[in-house]
Amino acid sequence: MNVPTLNQLIRVLQQVPYLASKNVYKVAHHFLNMNDEQLAYFCQLLLRAKENVIPCSICFAWQERETSCTWCTSSKRDQSLVCVVESWQDLLAIEKTEGYKGLYHVLGGVVCPLEGIGPEELTIEPLIQRVSSYPSIKEVIIALSQTAEGEATATYIARQLVSLDIKVTALAQGMPVGSSLEGSDRLTVYRAISDRRVL
Ligand SMILES: [Zn+2]
Repeated sequence: MNVPTLNQLIRVLQQVPYLASKNVYKVAHHFLNMNDEQLAYFCQLLLRAKENVIPCSICFAWQERETSCTWCTSSKRDQSLVCVVESWQDLLAIEKTEGYKGLYHVLGGVVCPLEGIGPEELTIEPLIQRVSSYPSIKEVIIALSQTAEGEATATYIARQLVSLDIKVTALAQGMPVGSSLEGSDRLTVYRAISDRRVL
């Protein structure tokens, strides 16, 4: 089609991960139908979010730049538990169960040599430092995907924690192989975390 600007918009939308390619035309259509005010608000909000939302320096979950982390600073959270998750989305999946009241640590992925993701690309080192500098932490729950990479990452973290004399647990077996927390239903996530096993 001879609409270069629209083609350009489509190309940019196609680069957005998780946006199914068949949906990019619908999304472009939606943007073009927005009135100027709505579109300006949308664009400003994206820029503002990028500026004001930063990873917490302790758990790496998103937090507002001007306020403290929802989880790390809450007196209602159990300071003795740290649940290690791959992503912020997995953290939200656990929160949705309303069955876990400890703290979190967002890894930023799992070790995957084929994709060039080594331990140093993730927040594993800050996790080890965190556990060694906060004596209040008594248990680390490793809640990663039930995939080969997730299992290997869990084993790697567990090994790093051995010398710290801390309880290390993993999600209950029974989570479907290949599944992630984010893609699982609430009850499955709840059971996986409450029936966790010692590693
Ligand atoms: Zn935090």
